[in-house]
Amino acid sequence: MVHFVGAGPGAPDLITVRGKKLIEEADVIIYAGSLVNPQLLAYAGPSCEIHNSAYMTLEETTAVIRKAESEGKMTVRLHTGDPSIYGAIAEQMHELDLQGIRYDVCPGVSSFVAAAAVMNQEYTKPGISQSVIITRAAGRTPVPEAESIGSFAAHQATMVLFLSAGKWMECREQLLTGYAEDTPAAIVYKATWEDERIIRCTVGSLAEAGEASGITGTALIMVGAVLGEEAPKSKLYDAGFETGFRKAHAGKDQR
Ligand code: SAH
Repeated sequence: MVHFVGAGPGAPDLITVRGKKLIEEADVIIYAGSLVNPQLLAYAGPSCEIHNSAYMTLEETTAVIRKAESEGKMTVRLHTGDPSIYGAIAEQMHELDLQGIRYDVCPGVSSFVAAAAVMNQEYTKPGISQSVIITRAAGRTPVPEAESIGSFAAHQATMVLFLSAGKWMECREQLLTGYAEDTPAAIVYKATWEDERIIRCTVGSLAEAGEASGITGTALIMVGAVLGEEAPKSKLYDAGFETGFRKAHAGKDQR
């Protein structure tokens, strides 16, 4: 059996209870060494065999899993954040399907929610934005034309760009096709790690701020009016608003 496990964004106590238990029980761990915090491997048992996939091809990771399966061993495939977001798990699952090897997924705390947490940020403020667009600049992996940053920028919703640190000017140009220059933005480097950094800027100053930061990877770019000061009240806690759990206070108008 293979378990794809979300390691969380970095801090070793931000893995799920289930994920930690799977690491403790694993006979074999293949972890994405470029981004997974190695401190998580301290949860593994003394006889656990550990491989760093940063140095391996898909064929090699599959071979390790095949060998473990033939010995009746359990493998944890440890991915950063949540495996469903840019985790390249689909191709691995396809290989396992071909080999008739069973697997499941244990979710993790994605970096985009960890980044919001370290900034005490809500992505969905009433009257400002009620959507979060998760996307990336094209890199070695192309992005479908209909999903360009520019096309999403037209919505002026909250946006989080993965895998785009370093492409500051390109991001700025595409963002400016929809967002105003003074729209707040932030660069969040290694959220929840000890060397975490948060750089606030605007869409207009993104390229300058990004270049000055020297950051080239493991960062998210956050964009949207929600990052500004305004904090309109949601209806959820409004005294005049009835929910399934709470009756509206008499005398207040219903909104
Ligand atoms: N599955 C992961 C994303 C993997 S893609 C997740 O759910 O978070 C790798 C990209 O994720 C990095 O280039 C960076 O954009 C982002 N990332 C991962 N961990 C991060 C962190 N702790 N802080 C900021 N960005 C992070």
